[in-house]
Amino acid sequence: MRPVDFKQVKLLVNMRQVLSLIGWEPRHNRWNTLRGDCPLCKRRSEDGRIFEVTGSGFHCWKCQAKGSHLDLYARFVGKPLLEAAIEMCGKAGVSVPYLPLPAAQPDTPRTEKRHQ
Ligand SMILES: [Zn+2]
Repeated sequence: MRPVDFKQVKLLVNMRQVLSLIGWEPRHNRWNTLRGDCPLCKRRSEDGRIFEVTGSGFHCWKCQAKGSHLDLYARFVGKPLLEAAIEMCGKAGVSVPYLPLPAAQPDTPRTEKRHQ
């Protein structure tokens, strides 16, 4: 699998999109912080003090899960980060920002010249 530029993925798909992809609705929305039930450990919270989303980060006070919106998506779908990033881009309708394949090792001797 080709490597992906996770930084770009996080810029191309924002937290709002991730929340809508995983079907999460906040119970409270105040001071740029969304609060509600945890989509990972499924703890319910009437006062919304369990799971918090601020900017592009999240934190659950019960299961202690935290990280970026990409981490949230990966944990929610239960896939490794790379797979989750590719899937997330697909679902959000953006093209996956693949990194160029790693260059040949510098100490690898070149046996033939490339024709231009
Ligand atoms: Zn949790």
